[in-house]
Amino acid sequence: MKTPKVGFVSLGCPKALVDSERILTQLKTEGYQVASDYNGADLVVVNTCGFIESAVQESLDAIGEAMSENGRVIVTGCLGKDEDKIRQMHPNVLKVTGAAAYQDVMEAVHEYVPAPPKHNPFIDLVPEQGVRLTPKHYAYLKISEGCNHRCTFCIIPSMRGDLVSRPVGKVLDEAAALKRAGVKEVLVISQDTSAYGVDTKYKLDFWNGQPVKTKFYDMCEALGQLGIWVRLHYVYPYPHVDAVIDLMGQGKILPYLDIPFQHASPRILKLMKRPAHSENTLERLKLWREKCPELVIRSTFVVGFPGETEEDFQILLDWLKEAQLDRVGCFTYSPVEGATANDLPDHVPEEIKQERYERFMEVQQEISAAKLQKRIGQTMTVLVDSLEEEFPVAVARSYADAPEIDGNVFVEDIDKSVIKAGDLLEVEITDADEYDLFARLIQVKSA
Ligand code: SF4
Repeated sequence: MKTPKVGFVSLGCPKALVDSERILTQLKTEGYQVASDYNGADLVVVNTCGFIESAVQESLDAIGEAMSENGRVIVTGCLGKDEDKIRQMHPNVLKVTGAAAYQDVMEAVHEYVPAPPKHNPFIDLVPEQGVRLTPKHYAYLKISEGCNHRCTFCIIPSMRGDLVSRPVGKVLDEAAALKRAGVKEVLVISQDTSAYGVDTKYKLDFWNGQPVKTKFYDMCEALGQLGIWVRLHYVYPYPHVDAVIDLMGQGKILPYLDIPFQHASPRILKLMKRPAHSENTLERLKLWREKCPELVIRSTFVVGFPGETEEDFQILLDWLKEAQLDRVGCFTYSPVEGATANDLPDHVPEEIKQERYERFMEVQQEISAAKLQKRIGQTMTVLVDSLEEEFPVAVARSYADAPEIDGNVFVEDIDKSVIKAGDLLEVEITDADEYDLFARLIQVKSA
């Protein structure tokens, strides 16, 4: 019997990527092959994103392409919540399921393309760490689904529900399996990493025979024992994060935090209903930097939120100058269908949003460039992501750079026959521009 083949299109954020990896792992475990093109597939699964209007459009286009190239399509992911919208444009998709609905996707696959009957999951080879869509040397580690907050610009809680934390034993087992598979860096993701375990009342679990609480600090401490890079994303500036900064100071996890501040004006943060909006974030940053001077902070911001006045924007710019963040992304506010912020009064005209965006980026670029200049002459450890095809250059990252979203360290004049992706190098920083660093190799630390 011919092995059934399933095509896969994965869109969206790292959380959606992890969902795709889980579905692909399950498909392989059951004996399906993953098709490399539409034509060879018995059906195609499209994992969609529904976060902002452009992502919705991209998802609808991807479904359209899979329909015209293959014709047998199962839709899953965040946009799946809006089945009517999908069916309006693509009435003949086989099935629509929501975000993180692995079981529903598998049931739909079984319905339309039964798994090979003689498959034995204990004999067939599925890597212990599952199927991953990232390079071999780094992996995303999803610790929870959903979110207990209700930010007014966001529809994720209505798509993914309230926070559900994975048991800490399972999270740590997965991280250990990733390490055994050669992963050098895990990137912890969720909608709110600092809230990990709140829903379970910090339930006690076991790992390697030891009791561990399903709690942010305890998870970080245990991950820190693995001896690989551990990078935290989507953390909010709550007081209980202070203890995790201590772990960073002790070198147990990377001194890097991704905190989506989004704004600094208390009035706008309140309108956004942001987590920790009443915290004194500048004080908190100061404290953290005292505890761990090498701490790098990346963040994202939204300008032009409904009701944002020039005064609010100035508060944001002043905050930014004072906060001296290392890595910053900025978006102009764009309404998301179903978000309560759409009903707020005083929407900001597009040209003002754009003008504020440019002013914001100008300020941040100066901060970022000055910070990177200070790195010149320093010795850093970097992880190689790839080698340049045409030049003797390794494209790498230090603890200060998350993949895809931050800058790179370009290690020049290397011997490409001895260095490969996944190697850890000791380098000396020789130059910098606004976003990236340039370096010379001192030595290969671990291959
Ligand atoms: S914290 Fe806010 S923005 Fe983030 S997922 Fe939850 S509701 Fe959405």
